[in-house]
Amino acid sequence: MIRKVLIANRGEIALRIHRACHEMGIKTVAVHSTADSDAMHVRLADEAICIGPPPAAESYLNIPNIISAAEISHADAIHPGYGFLSENARFAEIVESHGIVWIGPKPEHIRVMGDKIEAKRTAAKLGLPLVPGSDGPVEGFAEARDVAAAAGYPVIVKAASGGGGRGMKVVRSEDELEAQVSQARSEAKNAFGDDTVYIEKYLGDPRHIEFQVFGDGNGKAVHLGERDCSLQRRHQKVLEEAPSPVIAPAERDRMGGIVARAMADMGYRGAGTIEFLYENGEFYFIEMNTRLQVEHPVTEYITGLDLVREQIRVASGEGLSCSQEQVAFRGHAIECRINAEDPQTFAPSPGLVKNYVAPGGMHVRVDSGLYGGYRVPPYYDSMIAKLIVYGSNRERCIMRLRRALEEFVVDGLKTTIPLHQKLIEDPEFQRGEYTIKWLEEWLGRDDK
Ligand code: ADP
Repeated sequence: MIRKVLIANRGEIALRIHRACHEMGIKTVAVHSTADSDAMHVRLADEAICIGPPPAAESYLNIPNIISAAEISHADAIHPGYGFLSENARFAEIVESHGIVWIGPKPEHIRVMGDKIEAKRTAAKLGLPLVPGSDGPVEGFAEARDVAAAAGYPVIVKAASGGGGRGMKVVRSEDELEAQVSQARSEAKNAFGDDTVYIEKYLGDPRHIEFQVFGDGNGKAVHLGERDCSLQRRHQKVLEEAPSPVIAPAERDRMGGIVARAMADMGYRGAGTIEFLYENGEFYFIEMNTRLQVEHPVTEYITGLDLVREQIRVASGEGLSCSQEQVAFRGHAIECRINAEDPQTFAPSPGLVKNYVAPGGMHVRVDSGLYGGYRVPPYYDSMIAKLIVYGSNRERCIMRLRRALEEFVVDGLKTTIPLHQKLIEDPEFQRGEYTIKWLEEWLGRDDK
């Protein structure tokens, strides 16, 4: 039984995990850098342990210090949140080798899916449809040329160890290929310490649609429907919704059934997300994330399930709380990622929050560690809050979102709240007519 969980993360997700634990009667241990001593999750946790200075490499990524904190506090389990060590298979192994429960997938599955080439191979074996491209790493230029020609231009060169939208290059014709492949390699080497790259066909105008899955680790798995995360800037998600405005119930059941079966066959344990590009009615697997996603609350709203509670149940060996037949989808949910950034230039805007008033009311959820008098540190990701709103249908959800954004006050910092306010007034957004390219094009419009 899990009695005490160490939360190896910071910000809104650390708070999210703390809340789920306390609702289950589980104690929490916050670990934090010196820059986060005043953070909300640190204040609310039952115990707090400082694990290092502000740079993440010396604190939130410092494995020996995190393991020591777990031992000193007698934590039974570690929840890694997202980012930081959440997809580090070695960390998961170290946690388990210390007799501590890892609230996450089996280390071997994290490892396989963390290498995008291995992930594609595994997906192909499990019967998931892939984007056409190289079967494995692309070695020399001659091979790159043959693969690109077979897939057809434009193609995208991607880093096998890539993530967070980095390490990708779009190549429009053969004369750019050599230069772009070597640039992708050197960027990948710098960012991820691995210069392995592969090539995929670059889809013209797809949507990004991902399925939430959950496995019990013993051959049972369910899907919790899809999320549409097409609204992206520089391959980073800005606003997400569930269900997707373009997926019909029969299509959800069909594709969801395929991914759930794949996870069951794999013996997958815990929460996972299978990401697809979707174009002309076809799905193409791009990657799998073996952790909780930032945008998980939209799925929680439409299914009524608490995904962190579910993760803890599975890690405790209690299995999933529901069968596929018991999962029902109701209504519509939208999440806005609110960043401490200039809404025009996207320049980071950390600093002191002078006044903070979060919206409330029916079906409005704010996941954030902000409070008046809190200083947003400059060292980490600029996302400071997530506003998640539910409505019985998409139109009502947008109306409620408009009202909630109007109420939201964060004084002292620049935030992307005004950007979301404009975005949801756009008629194309309101009709659900957008693809992964739409937001960047919209941001460039003068009359938006
Ligand atoms: P990361 O792990 O860095 O997030 P992904 O493989 O998930 O990388 O891709 C991130 C985004 O890049 C996708 O949501 C999509 O917008 C774009 N993208 C990736 N692969 C392709 C492709 N083959 N064609 C078109 N766009 C792509």
